[in-house]
Amino acid sequence: MLVFLEVEPEDIAKIQKIFPKAQIISKPLNENEIIKKCHNAEILCVFIYSQITKKVIKNLPNLKLIVTRSVGYDHIDLNAAKEKGIKICNVPDYGSHVIAEHVFALLLCGLRHISEGDDRVEKNHKFDFHGLRGMALKAKTLGLIGTGKIGKNVARIASLGFLMNVIAYDPYPDEDAARENHFQYVSLDKLLQKSDIISLHCPLLPNTKHIINKKSIEKMKNGIVIVNTSRGEIIETKALLTGLKSKKISHVFLDVLEHEKNLAENKEIINFPEVIVTPHIAFYADDSMKKMYEEAFSSIKKFLKGEKLMHQVEGI
Ligand code: NAD
Repeated sequence: MLVFLEVEPEDIAKIQKIFPKAQIISKPLNENEIIKKCHNAEILCVFIYSQITKKVIKNLPNLKLIVTRSVGYDHIDLNAAKEKGIKICNVPDYGSHVIAEHVFALLLCGLRHISEGDDRVEKNHKFDFHGLRGMALKAKTLGLIGTGKIGKNVARIASLGFLMNVIAYDPYPDEDAARENHFQYVSLDKLLQKSDIISLHCPLLPNTKHIINKKSIEKMKNGIVIVNTSRGEIIETKALLTGLKSKKISHVFLDVLEHEKNLAENKEIINFPEVIVTPHIAFYADDSMKKMYEEAFSSIKKFLKGEKLMHQVEGI
């Protein structure tokens, strides 16, 4: 039996077209619910909010393949799967341009006062530009921390589209990509000192947790703009709030938060006027969702035909 979990209503038809017999569940399920509802599953196709724990794996006796429609797979107990010979596939790149585009959606929305302008006209019936002077992107220095799939796309859009000066820090520099996408590698310190806008595109690792902290903010220009579409824990929220209150930081645009599900804990940063927060939607667009499903379908089809799997998670 093939079971799809966490399916949005608008994606049901495309699953049914390819796998008419698949069981499709929209609501995210907890451990016990997965065990109960997917008991006969041979193939599970999940998203990141389905915790495929040791207990789940132990209690799904027929399970042979887990396909996660995501880059990350930390919601799956790899060791437990390995012990039972269960294969795991992910979708390593479902559209980095979509996340990169969201960076500019946040920047333009915040720096050109789009929501305030709309509110002014729609809610206050006032058609007046005063007080909404924006900040242009052209010729500003954009500092990218991390130049992987997403960082490179951001660099390309910034340099070729907005004619920004792009500098970047990555412990594994890719000089070819720098030439192609018109950016220059610098040290992290230099990036912190020179940037007008900093955008984060590194993974969350022990050495990137709180890479933006009190000390790094002190090194930045006054009026710095910070964008984070990577992971919330990369920024020390307390330091961000201090920087905003002192006006060292002028704007903060976040698609991710520290302890994302704890909105009460994040209330102050969310409510800060110069802060825009979106609910982890950078990945969520027509293109990326289409590719996410196509890649997942391809892994399932290959498995069913006994063919070599393309995106098998390494070591399994
Ligand atoms: P990637 O693996 O292609 O690139 C990550 C880059 O970060 C690599 O070049 C790596 O060398 C670099 N890096 C590692 N340690 C670093 C450090 N200490 N300082 C600076 N750079 C460092 O990943 P990607 O696809 O570009 O994604 C980047 C991150 O974006 C992911 O790890 C994920 O957390 C996040 N993400 C968010 C969304 C969203 O919807 N908001 C969607 C996808 C990915």
